[in-house]
Amino acid sequence: MKEHPNDFSLIPALFPPLLDWHRANRRILPWRESKDPYRIWLSEIMLQQTRIEAVIPYYHRFLAELPTVSALAAVSDEKLMKLWEGLGYYSRARNLKRAAITVMTEYGGELPRAYHELLRLSGIGEYTAGAIASIAYGLPEPAVDGNVLRVIMRLTGREDDVSLAATKKKVTEELRAIYPSGEEAGLLTEGLMELGEQICLPNGTPKCESCPWQVSCIAYREGRETELPKKSPKKSRRIENYTVLLLIHDGRIAIRKRPENGLLAGLWELPSLTGHRSADEALAWLRQQGLSPREVSPCPSATHIFTHVEWHMIGMIAQCDTPTDDFVWVSAEELNETFALPTAFRAYRTLFLKKQR
Ligand code: SF4
Repeated sequence: MKEHPNDFSLIPALFPPLLDWHRANRRILPWRESKDPYRIWLSEIMLQQTRIEAVIPYYHRFLAELPTVSALAAVSDEKLMKLWEGLGYYSRARNLKRAAITVMTEYGGELPRAYHELLRLSGIGEYTAGAIASIAYGLPEPAVDGNVLRVIMRLTGREDDVSLAATKKKVTEELRAIYPSGEEAGLLTEGLMELGEQICLPNGTPKCESCPWQVSCIAYREGRETELPKKSPKKSRRIENYTVLLLIHDGRIAIRKRPENGLLAGLWELPSLTGHRSADEALAWLRQQGLSPREVSPCPSATHIFTHVEWHMIGMIAQCDTPTDDFVWVSAEELNETFALPTAFRAYRTLFLKKQR
């Protein structure tokens, strides 16, 4: 590695120490107990944007209800959203079902083996296709996410900007050219992920003293491990203000469906007004809707952070004597059992449930 720090053809010589390290340190995770492509696919989708510890109970619950691709293809949207409730990024669940239907209709119920066919399925991008292809099918396909990219940039001492899609594409192609097949393909995919998650840590100090690649790593040798990877600064998130309305009638709370496009498309929500409104403004709006609450009173504020947007919410609670058909009025039990509310509304959902006890 010393003479040719950017030369990927020298990396395969480094696979054995990484694989040995991974075999010795491999974490036992539920989706690693089988090579079932459905389980690997499901886990990879759940793990996007969500921590391993948070995913595990969801993964078990999901598989207990939907143990096969055919069960997933046939599940109702309501039940699917309920199984996903709290995980966030609900389009992941919708895409899973869409892809499951394609697998049933076009591939006889089995996830296709070919990488380019996996890529055709809804919600499966290059990373997930690479993970399924290498782990479940032993194909020489890398799965490059932010963790793997960081490891490779440090190992090779490259200075390419990892926030650019072109960098990820280039690294994926170069790794593909040298990737092993068979059992080692899956182990290498897992090992690279583990190295990025456990040892070659972002922000702060990587644990180079525990790294199987320490002696070959260009960044370590040159003392640049905290300078790499290079990354252009992120755009700051847009702030959106809302007034969330907790409309209560006879122990039931009003919910409604969000529009079919945009953030949290088609999901249930608590009715909300844009901006931070006064109690009088909220009251005026409610009267326009044909609701005549006795009073409107403020409840605590809450914040929810999405990838590109932050919601800054204040809440108003109103007891309504005459419910209208513009909303669905659900009991605490129905909210728990049947209707999935996005995590963004968690603080207000909890407040309602507490009031019903
Ligand atoms: S030696 Fe350090 S910087 Fe290099 S790959 Fe290992 S953990 Fe990362």
